[in-house]
Amino acid sequence: MSEYDFIRDLVPTGVWIDGAAAPACGGATFAVSDPATGQVLTEVADGGSADALRALDSACRVQSAWAATSARERAAILRRAWEILIERTEELALLMTLEMGKTVAESRGEVAYGGEFLRWFSEEAVRIGGRNATAPGGAGRILVTQQPVGPVLAITPWNFPLAMGTRKIGPALAAGCTVIVKPAEDTPLTMLMLAAIFAEAGLPDGVLSVVPGSDAAAITEPLLADPRLRKVTFTGSTRVGKLLLRQAAENVLRTSMELGGNAPFIVFEDADLDLALTGALAAKMRNGGEACTAANRIYVHNSIREEFAARFAEKLATLRVGPGYAPEVDLGPLINERQRATVTALVDDAVAAGAVVRTGGKPIEGPGFFFQPTVLDEVPRTARMHREEIFGPVAAIYGFDTEEDVVAAANDTEFGLAAYFFTRDLDRALRVSEALEAGMVGVNRGVVSDPAAPFGGIKQSGLGSEGGSEGIHEYLDTKYVALTR
Ligand code: NAP
Repeated sequence: MSEYDFIRDLVPTGVWIDGAAAPACGGATFAVSDPATGQVLTEVADGGSADALRALDSACRVQSAWAATSARERAAILRRAWEILIERTEELALLMTLEMGKTVAESRGEVAYGGEFLRWFSEEAVRIGGRNATAPGGAGRILVTQQPVGPVLAITPWNFPLAMGTRKIGPALAAGCTVIVKPAEDTPLTMLMLAAIFAEAGLPDGVLSVVPGSDAAAITEPLLADPRLRKVTFTGSTRVGKLLLRQAAENVLRTSMELGGNAPFIVFEDADLDLALTGALAAKMRNGGEACTAANRIYVHNSIREEFAARFAEKLATLRVGPGYAPEVDLGPLINERQRATVTALVDDAVAAGAVVRTGGKPIEGPGFFFQPTVLDEVPRTARMHREEIFGPVAAIYGFDTEEDVVAAANDTEFGLAAYFFTRDLDRALRVSEALEAGMVGVNRGVVSDPAAPFGGIKQSGLGSEGGSEGIHEYLDTKYVALTR
């Protein structure tokens, strides 16, 4: 009997196809571990190409029937799934913390946020419109309708094991698409629990499959090569996103890509400093810094940089580090040793280049993959972390003197996901929000995510939007019917 036994009662640990969990075709399993201790939580079916194709067979079998259900019916299932998910907040939050590491408070936040995509798209399902017009010549009628794209492959990362899935599953199901999810190897349990919740909510068998596995390409490549698949939606690194885009080109698949970020966070000299510090804490430390929207480059006007850096370091130095499920912990571990080694190397590189350590700066000895909450000041713009995603609890502060210089620096990256700035000047707020090359801009706030808003990046941060009234269109094809008279 172990303290993790509750997982066995709550979470299906097989490949989820046709509304039930089954062993992987080859019978193999892989271990899912707790990043706070390195201890194995459970074994999960190690899906491969045969399982992936079985999931696609199942999706194709029910695709037409699912597309033909009434929008009301689809909405009711999504709504019911949201209700069950919220009822299970505590179990889901603990599970997510165990496999991913964030604090239980943050996991509860993700249950609320991730669940909201199901409620939001249950409401959007019944508002899929079309258009009807008279052709300018007078004789013809133009009828425009929206139809589900068809079977979708959704590939999700480990940092938000629930929300990155519901942001895709919600709109896809609302639109009438079937979905196969390939969750991250580190965090498959939350997605498997969600699949069971959907079954309980009345989702017909075959409409949603989850294929976990330790070899991502073994699952995704045969699906992308199969002409029956019609769309791939991905959240993860830009490197893998580019690879998937190349593979998707072969069958001209619809694609949605939510990729890496390198968000600037700018504090102008006229900013409300208390507000900017609170915003920086949220933008940097949300999800332990393991967020694509995390403030990666904090630019502070040189006239206030010293005060900002001192106060921010004071805030971060008080954060209590430990397992996310322990009481009174503010910061959990990083996801794995690889991620911790990446963060350590980026910090060492910046310090060697001349950055000043205000607090932290080092990994914490195991067990578990902890890193000290860190503030680096006067980071040279030549440091690697100025160009690369940190993905950890490390704040990098850079000085600047003029608006022109900081906007140019902020835009000097191939990424364009989120950007933040703080100012009391309305003219500047409008001017800078237009000038920043990012898909999402936070003005005087450190969090932009909202299920009712379109989430997405430009440049190499992605293609398409998730959430908002835009999100469902990623799963709909436009059809034009030409009528006489
Ligand atoms: P990742 O390595 O790209 O992995 C993401 C997903 O892709 C995982 O399920 C992974 O499976 C799978 N994958 C890896 N290699 C693959 C391949 N060759 N073919 C098919 N699938 C493959 O990214 P990550 O490290 O998990 O996540 C962090 C990245 O995600 C960061 O860059 C972050 O900015 C980005 N992100 C973006 C957003 C956004 O909305 N823009 C949101 C969250 C995160 P395995 O786990 O089995 O390797």
